[in-house]
Amino acid sequence: MAEFTMELNDEQKEVRDWLHGFAADVIRPAAAEWDEREETPWPVIQEAAKVGIYSLDFYAQQYFDPTGLGIPMAMEELFWGDAGIALSIVGTGLAAVGVLANGTEEQIGTWVPQMYGDANDVKLAAFCSSEPDAGSDVASMRTRAVYDEAKDEWVINGTKTWATNGGIANVHVVVAVVDADLGSKGHASFIIPPNTPGLSQGQKFKKHGIRASHTAEVILDNVRVPGSCLLGGKAKLDERLARARERAKAGGERVKNAAMATFEASRPAVGAMAVGTARAAYEVALDYAMTREQFGRPIIDNQGVAFQLAEMRTQIDAARLLVWRASWMAINGKPFTAAEGSMSKLFASETAKKVTAQAIQILGGNGYTREYPVERMHRDSAIYTIFEGTSEIQRLVIARTLSGMPIR
Ligand SMILES: Cc1cc2nc3c(=O)[nH]c(=O)nc-3n(C[C@H](O)[C@H](O)[C@H](O)COP(=O)(O)OP(=O)(O)OC[C@H]3O[C@@H](n4cnc5c(N)ncnc54)[C@H](O)[C@@H]3O)c2cc1C
Repeated sequence: MAEFTMELNDEQKEVRDWLHGFAADVIRPAAAEWDEREETPWPVIQEAAKVGIYSLDFYAQQYFDPTGLGIPMAMEELFWGDAGIALSIVGTGLAAVGVLANGTEEQIGTWVPQMYGDANDVKLAAFCSSEPDAGSDVASMRTRAVYDEAKDEWVINGTKTWATNGGIANVHVVVAVVDADLGSKGHASFIIPPNTPGLSQGQKFKKHGIRASHTAEVILDNVRVPGSCLLGGKAKLDERLARARERAKAGGERVKNAAMATFEASRPAVGAMAVGTARAAYEVALDYAMTREQFGRPIIDNQGVAFQLAEMRTQIDAARLLVWRASWMAINGKPFTAAEGSMSKLFASETAKKVTAQAIQILGGNGYTREYPVERMHRDSAIYTIFEGTSEIQRLVIARTLSGMPIR
């Protein structure tokens, strides 16, 4: 276990500065254009691939940083650049993690490289879990996967929604119901290989923020995939389903399931994205307050403005500390006895919304226009309290964890 220190080591500082350089030189200058275009910023993703930021290797290296700070540091810097473009760069990671967490070595080796492609031919991946009637309530998922034993194929039917990169991805990872009696314990994940017949993109959403990130419905109409596309394999699935049926028979023992633990470990990464956006807006506001003059002096000369900036910075630093604590706990296998992962995501995402709104206020009329980036950052920040579990769901998870009660 790494010795406790609040200081990044030299290697971490080097990576952070390198990422910051990319965010400042490549991502931020492109942000306004791709926000307006509401399209996937392919050239920026290609640039990221060329320098090694868009690759599994890069994320694996950050993930295995023994302090746990590699991923949150990377997320903060990239999202400091721009949230929509950064999500286009890291969105594939969500699907890749799904394969890394549940797939066999062979599946990881076959599919993850096809998710990223290479610098000359970049590819994307999408993780499709949410449905029109199954958002926070994952257990009400309807997409069905039925095994066709004669052909050793799975047949998948359903409609997924809100999929980041949905329909434009090379590889889709789809969560589907294999045993409807078991609620979320009866779900399994499948790889949908490139160009599989029956998978199509539905509506592409026009969004409030992170508009450079593609979000769409994914329609699955009699999609047939080989048995080898079931993540983890059939034997493991059958074993898991049998255990879940036993538990259900024994009276539905409350299970602290692996999926919950995975979310606790991945939520700090979303918190770190929020910290990046909040920090970006705070920096613009601080700079503006120091230079904008009214009544013959810089507006920061007024406590009313200066105290807001003091508050903003304090909240951002507190959010980062919660994110770093949860990330350190995750890599060191510490149990999340107070749902510390959810805490970090809740606090950081709410902070981003608040801080970006304060930044608009400090910039006055300019803050309200697209001439300045805080307007975009405020629109972008609203996503953090929604995806990967809304703020209400985070509060629910924290309260249930603290009390052990089935709070609704
Ligand atoms: C831009 C974007 C990208 C996304 N990317 C992906 C992706 O790549 N893959 C994917 O699978 N999904 C993705 N999502 C889906 C996202 O995870 C869901 O939107 C989110 O889980 C909320 O589900 P919902 O939108 O159906 O809201 P609902 O669950 O309908 O919630 C509506 C409101 O009710 C509240 N609420 C619901 N239940 C409770 C409760 N028990 N107690 C208190 N309040 C409650 C919620 O907090 C919320 O305020 C994305 C969403 C967006 C907007």
